[in-house]
Amino acid sequence: MQNSYPTVAYFSMEFGLNSDFKIYAGGLGILAGDYLKAAKDNMLPVIGIGIKWKQGYVEQHIDKDGKIVDSFYNNEYGFLKDTGVKVDVKIRERDVWCKVWKVDCFENSELYLLDTDLPENSDRWITGQLYGWFEEERIAQEMVLGIGGIRALRALKKNVDIFHFNEGHAVFAGFELIKEKKERGYNPYDAWNESRKQIVFTTHTPVIEGNEFHGLNILEYMGAFNGLDRYLVREIGGDPFNMTAAGLRLSKKSNAVSVLHGRIANDMWKSVDRRSEIISITNGVHLGTWGDKKIIEANERGENLWDYHMNNKEKLIDFIYEEKDVKLDKDKLLIGFARRAAPYKRGDLIFTDEERIAPLLKNGDIQIIISSKAHPLDFTGKEIIKHILGIEKKYPNSVVFLDNYNMKKADLLTKGVDVWLNNPRVTKEACGTSGMKAAINGVLNLSTLDGWWPEACWDEVTGWQIGGGFVSDDIKEQDRNDAASLYDVLFNKVLKTYYNDRKKWTEMMVASINAMVNRYSGDRMIKEYYEKLYR
Ligand SMILES: *Cc1c(COP(=O)(O)O)cnc(C)c1O
Repeated sequence: MQNSYPTVAYFSMEFGLNSDFKIYAGGLGILAGDYLKAAKDNMLPVIGIGIKWKQGYVEQHIDKDGKIVDSFYNNEYGFLKDTGVKVDVKIRERDVWCKVWKVDCFENSELYLLDTDLPENSDRWITGQLYGWFEEERIAQEMVLGIGGIRALRALKKNVDIFHFNEGHAVFAGFELIKEKKERGYNPYDAWNESRKQIVFTTHTPVIEGNEFHGLNILEYMGAFNGLDRYLVREIGGDPFNMTAAGLRLSKKSNAVSVLHGRIANDMWKSVDRRSEIISITNGVHLGTWGDKKIIEANERGENLWDYHMNNKEKLIDFIYEEKDVKLDKDKLLIGFARRAAPYKRGDLIFTDEERIAPLLKNGDIQIIISSKAHPLDFTGKEIIKHILGIEKKYPNSVVFLDNYNMKKADLLTKGVDVWLNNPRVTKEACGTSGMKAAINGVLNLSTLDGWWPEACWDEVTGWQIGGGFVSDDIKEQDRNDAASLYDVLFNKVLKTYYNDRKKWTEMMVASINAMVNRYSGDRMIKEYYEKLYR
């Protein structure tokens, strides 16, 4: 039975498996981690290929003077097992040796990580920082992941049926598959076509500038052509070479990560000739990691969920007290917002019209916890954090900023707040998964109709929509519309239900869990990948 499932090698720049294993930055990595865990739960033959990041992603703290401080630490992980395998990738004409580690402490996954931090390398730092530094380093990292990853699988003697590229970072793996076939006597086009039969691709970024591209000259200089002719590289990725377009042209089938994102992606990439079809497979979350067993089981037994929820809320409030020395009120509405500080996510939208919300922050009827992290070079993102810090200073008992957003904080928040706020500019969020974590724990979503939410929102039943799906080329207009709607829904629906109609609130919690717990699970997601993408 088991043998009838194709074996999949899943390539990803990051994997979010647990909070302290710092080889992830955000949503892309969490998805990859949840996917691997779901694979193992369902006994599906998936092999993860990633990178052992020495310093991982930035650790970001706010110091006593309110300054944002970025730090990087070297990490060592005792649970990594040396496979004894080392593979060689030629980068800038130099041999770069990549040691292959097996992640051995997560019995729930089979994952191999490549590592260039070896004495015999002159370029030890390639696997130093996740999304760190500049273009040459990024290309080198992607060569390690893609070319090194295929060579690692060969050296480990793994039989792989499908190569799955999670985002464009892995497309050089496609070059290595083509090269292998050329060496077996195929002409370049046949080698490309044969390789396509083995490759599938997931695209994530619906913002055109967010899709990585490189000039052909720098790729050639780095050695990324990997023996392929320049004209072939250009036909695959264009000039400049677009990593997403390349993924679409190297694969037999691709997917976007929500229904809405599928529509956006098909439109965005419609001019890419010879590309694979883009279908939609909405993300899911690993229930064993993100679901609160107690509340989910109580819901199955038909019990009142309020006390279970209050336990989670108190746990979060205690955590905040320890971290920040602020005691939030468990009987007052608690809103959570936690995300990368990317401008389109609008982490400070709720403070647009400070005068309107100020009285409720002063009397504590609205309490907000915001957690975030900005990429070290994202100065606009850092401005958003500074704005929030200013607001926190003014309303210290009801606005809390938690720095260094990570999986542990995400876990506490998506269980312990009452409402999960999400307000990206519509069409900019491919999917979003933190809202799913909240939904399965009975935390009600209050969100613009972006990413997964249009599929799951039944207004005033499973949560609330804001903004009515409004999109405008004038982002000021879009922001004005959404802020006004946010205040309207918050004041007239959310607050009223919370303070005056506890019965309706708990019914909504039940509806949220019932509607989402299976539909947005990692189990559903991986089964869909097997049914729709891999066959
Ligand atoms: C779940 C999670 C994410 C992804 O959530 P979004 O809704 O896409 O922002 C990002 N970071 C962490 C730490 C998470 O746990």
